[in-house]
Amino acid sequence: MLQEFFPFTKAALAANNAAMLRCKEYFERTDEIKEYNQLKMLAAFTGCGVAYNHLQGSTGYGTGDSGRDKLEQVFAMLVGAEAALFRHQFSSGTHTLAVMLFGLLRPGQRMVAVTGRPYDTLQSVIGLGGQAGNGSLKEFGILYDEIPMVNGKVDIAAAAKACETANVCYIQRSRGYANRNALSPQEIEEIAAAVKMANPGIIVAVDNCYGEFTQKSEPTQHGADIMAGSLIKNPGGGIAPTGGYIAGKAHLVERCAHRLTAPGVGGEIGATLDVLRSLYLGLYYAPGVVAEAVKAAIYASALFDNLGLAVSPAFNAQRNDIVTAVETGSAEALLGLCKGIQAASPVDSFAIPEASPMPGYEDDVVMAAGAFTTGASIELSCDGPMRPPYTAYMQGGLNFASAQAGILLAAQKAGLIKNI
Ligand SMILES: *Cc1c(COP(=O)(O)O)cnc(C)c1O
Repeated sequence: MLQEFFPFTKAALAANNAAMLRCKEYFERTDEIKEYNQLKMLAAFTGCGVAYNHLQGSTGYGTGDSGRDKLEQVFAMLVGAEAALFRHQFSSGTHTLAVMLFGLLRPGQRMVAVTGRPYDTLQSVIGLGGQAGNGSLKEFGILYDEIPMVNGKVDIAAAAKACETANVCYIQRSRGYANRNALSPQEIEEIAAAVKMANPGIIVAVDNCYGEFTQKSEPTQHGADIMAGSLIKNPGGGIAPTGGYIAGKAHLVERCAHRLTAPGVGGEIGATLDVLRSLYLGLYYAPGVVAEAVKAAIYASALFDNLGLAVSPAFNAQRNDIVTAVETGSAEALLGLCKGIQAASPVDSFAIPEASPMPGYEDDVVMAAGAFTTGASIELSCDGPMRPPYTAYMQGGLNFASAQAGILLAAQKAGLIKNI
């Protein structure tokens, strides 16, 4: 079928067949998680009594916006949290995480990142790099420590020790641009239990970006007090046009709400304009879309491993995010992969990606994405910082068939498929 629409070589088709054979069993596992999460979703919608009028938005201050409040109730129920903010006013994942951290921490308090150096854009939020004078946590007198991961695992003993006198234990679930695996809900539970044993008052906060719906439960059901993520990743289902969420214990979510808007008004305001229907629909679709993206990730691992590249995670590993890291080994191969993904994107297929500086990132970054929503990485996308070993991070795919074509075309365009 593939060759009917794209100029695949015989070798590429053979590589595809070999990869697909390896994927079958793991696709079945993915479908089982999808069905579970989809039923859980339906039960949250029916359990909360979502009504047609909830899909209508508000203007101005947005006080008394019952659709917004209902949506947040649905999301909280879905992830086993007491409360949630689920809003388009969050401009990105980084913004959402910054609101969470500024909401939780006060001057003189300390956070400990127990999953090593956080995602690039969080570093300027914390005050580890970037320009002074931007108002980082550090400038507000918030202290910071980090515990490097050891062999891709959290050093639980060191984390517990460092958290004894800290206020927030920060866990990044997904790999980000680091050479490590994403954490499972069970691993998060183990970390949370250990740091709370050392310090019962500590707040366990999770960056859940890319993790949502990859498993049957979420960090808030496994000892996390609060978590945050982006709506142009997993929980937006490819339909939410922008936004983020914070979910967890009610008093903590409340603190974040006062930071998101203004101290005193908190979550009571925030007009939803015309986006509510998209947020509801996207969330409702998210388990299915995430499953398609996970299948694309499994396929990419199987394919590139067959082609002799180092991939992580392996095609048969448990998935706790939608990201696959492929060590391309050279700037040319990284660019080649991105060009291939771009060429098989539904929007802007004719564009040619180039590496360039990005705000918040230390190295130049190359990004391929021909997405309906700008920058949405729940849609098939490929990016990577231009530094050795030139790792390409691939993620997303709204549906498996087109992601499969895109990934195979990328491999072919990057010259990774040798003639057989
Ligand atoms: C995407 C991501 C972020 C930041 O989100 P942006 O929307 O890019 O600002 C933070 N942490 C992780 C692990 C991510 O994947």
